[in-house]
Amino acid sequence: MSIPELVVQQKVFYKTQKTKAIHYRLTLLKALKKALIANEEAIYDALNADFKKSKFESFLSEYALVLSELNLTLKNLKKWSKPKQVKSSILTFPSRDYIYKEPYGTVLIIAPWNYPFLLALAPLIMAVAAGNTVVLKPSELTPHTAAILTKIITSIFPKSVAVTVEGGVETATQLLAQRWDYIFFTGSTAVGKIVAKAAAEHLTPVTLELGGKSPCIVDDTENLNLVARRLIWGKLFNAGQTCIAPDYVIAKSNIKQELIDALKNEIIKQYGDNPMESPDLPRIVNSKNLKRLNRLLENTNIAFGGQIDHTSNYLAPTLVDAPKLDQAIMQNEIFGPILPILTYETEADIDHIISNLDRPLALYVFSKQKAFVNKLIKSYNFGGGVVNDLLVHFSNQNLPFGGVGGSGMGKYHGKHGFDTFSHEKSIMKRGTRIDPPFRYPPYNNKLGLIKKMFKYFG
Ligand code: NAD
Repeated sequence: MSIPELVVQQKVFYKTQKTKAIHYRLTLLKALKKALIANEEAIYDALNADFKKSKFESFLSEYALVLSELNLTLKNLKKWSKPKQVKSSILTFPSRDYIYKEPYGTVLIIAPWNYPFLLALAPLIMAVAAGNTVVLKPSELTPHTAAILTKIITSIFPKSVAVTVEGGVETATQLLAQRWDYIFFTGSTAVGKIVAKAAAEHLTPVTLELGGKSPCIVDDTENLNLVARRLIWGKLFNAGQTCIAPDYVIAKSNIKQELIDALKNEIIKQYGDNPMESPDLPRIVNSKNLKRLNRLLENTNIAFGGQIDHTSNYLAPTLVDAPKLDQAIMQNEIFGPILPILTYETEADIDHIISNLDRPLALYVFSKQKAFVNKLIKSYNFGGGVVNDLLVHFSNQNLPFGGVGGSGMGKYHGKHGFDTFSHEKSIMKRGTRIDPPFRYPPYNNKLGLIKKMFKYFG
């Protein structure tokens, strides 16, 4: 079936009203949960085949997160979908006022490769839960995961409700040329702009989950061994191919050397003397990205690591000492196991670095100084962040997840995801027994009375 035919089929099905029934959505989502449990090992195998992701990280950052979105949805869907009565206004007395959660219709989801299972299924679950039909395009760079996604989705959903369309840029371009009711995109800022332009053509609402350069500020009040331990974990999780990975560090200058030494120790502690042999460090997704990372290292001062193996797409965990702000490594999102360490003396130095770059997806700070931390949180626009740790804000379903400015627009996770895929339709239900005459012509001298009513009740 061609892409346009697929979209028409989903739109026709959407009009049958079948997806509006909560029990229908629940039946599909329960079946999906069963299929995920049955395919757990195959999912880990696919992720490992794609970029040597360990089973531990595959469970923690893909499988478990998808399952918890699913469980939360199964538990709360009835409550989330109920029309919510809100306070009515005396000016429209008598009335009962409601917000109805309405699906948008037929939704396009485009997923990236770096968490190829999670970032495809988490939005799909919420889109289906909200009553939409879904076309999902997984990333072509992780073909094994794309294949298992297709297998699972095909086994559960009728094509008219949810389907995958596999392919690369050409397929994505064809998909974007269709008229969608909502587009949910996760990927790079550059492609995000292409998606936004295509969506504008039909005034289609979009969520853009993008990337950016997320800073991590470290002052001189924390235990540097703990800071280094968490920093190496946060940076090297998924080999640094994480949208919210700390992109670079801004350390108080008096602790820089001590921090670098602690970071080196931690790399060895967590990944051994030769990280290439560690089963826990994933590979760079393909040679194009490895070459890109290699170029970012040109003319930099490598304090540790830097080894590359082109045959296995391996890049060693690498520390870069004090790159200049105009170097490529500080102008582009790194998205790999390279950590530049910059320094500051004053808050103005921090501002100079952060304000030079687009609004980041995350900001991290390690400090015991409350005032300093609060000032950083309030001074900068960024998607979200953590104080004294990294990445973990992603895992709380009560916290909306999304970027701002160059790092994206819109949010999801937990109920925020359900809300993203739902239009809020306002409905006022009025009675007919009372019908005060104030608003009807002839207006004569009714303006004074109306003004008084607004003064007291408006
Ligand atoms: P990407 O933008 O290259 O690709 C993402 C998706 O868009 C893929 O499915 C791809 O096939 C498609 N695509 C690529 N070029 C296209 C084009 N010209 N037109 C239409 N579609 C196109 O991103 P990626 O390399 O897969 O992922 C890495 C980026 O994603 C990083 O910037 C990272 O920060 C970001 N990211 C953001 C989040 C988030 O939640 N905010 C999560 C993961 C990754």
